[in-house]
Amino acid sequence: MLLIECPWCGPRAETEFSCGGEADIARPLDTEKLTDEEWGDYLFMRRNPRGVHREQWLHAQGCRRWFKAQRDTVSYEIQGYETFERPLLTMDGNEGKTA
Ligand SMILES: [Zn+2]
Repeated sequence: MLLIECPWCGPRAETEFSCGGEADIARPLDTEKLTDEEWGDYLFMRRNPRGVHREQWLHAQGCRRWFKAQRDTVSYEIQGYETFERPLLTMDGNEGKTA
């Protein structure tokens, strides 16, 4: 089982969380001008990388707050967490974005 560290509640079992998919998907500003293909890409097309991936998670059975996690999809290792108010906090305690 994956152990996920909620930025507010601390480490909890994966079963308490709901994955919201890929993080940092920007909603198009002028949706009226999008083609059907562009709108479909925004709604459905997501990266599926082998390696480092940024995801949104909801602590559904806890504080019900959203946060982002940077996770390696091969090893399942979570490298850091980020709230929408503060940048990535890596697991070794260093703030700031990592590659
Ligand atoms: Zn929480």
